[in-house]
Amino acid sequence: MAFDPSPDDALVVVDVQRDFCPGGSLAVPEGDEVVGVINRLAPRFSTVVTTHDTHPADHCSFTARGGPWPPHCVEGTQGWEAHPDLDVQADFQVFKGRDRDQDGYTGWTKELADFLSRQGARRVVTVGLALDYCVQATALDARAAGFEVVVLTDATRAVNVRPDDGARALDALRAAGVHEDRAGEAPMPSSGV
Ligand code: ZN
Repeated sequence: MAFDPSPDDALVVVDVQRDFCPGGSLAVPEGDEVVGVINRLAPRFSTVVTTHDTHPADHCSFTARGGPWPPHCVEGTQGWEAHPDLDVQADFQVFKGRDRDQDGYTGWTKELADFLSRQGARRVVTVGLALDYCVQATALDARAAGFEVVVLTDATRAVNVRPDDGARALDALRAAGVHEDRAGEAPMPSSGV
């Protein structure tokens, strides 16, 4: 069974960027495996949002400034770009992390909440990278903002700095009332050519 979006569902595709995929500077294991799943899923949603981790070269989350991460998603670099095979038409884009002194993982913003409300969205379906950081934070914030939230577990991957971080993230999401489902085998979009 494929996940069956309803008209008041919005798909939020979190940070499917080169640096978070194998070969990137902060690669999520199997991160690129979400790309095909998301490409098949996105055309079935009436509202699609993408988020983009977007840092200055001296961001506070980088090890050079005492942060936990290697440099990644520096704006304008190849690693910042969306995965080259990602093929989604975004109705709204969020660029997060531009403030050099502000760390954080969520892709949720007041502007996004307002956009989704204008679209009539009631449920937020969250996919992308990484489950145990930005997907988790975005889903929790969407939930806190009063939306129904679903995470599609086969359209996300965890960094797993500790081996069970992905499982912990799912526990935290469940505890907050976020639902889990799977994208499953969605039909291929008709080619139109
Ligand atoms: Zn980042």
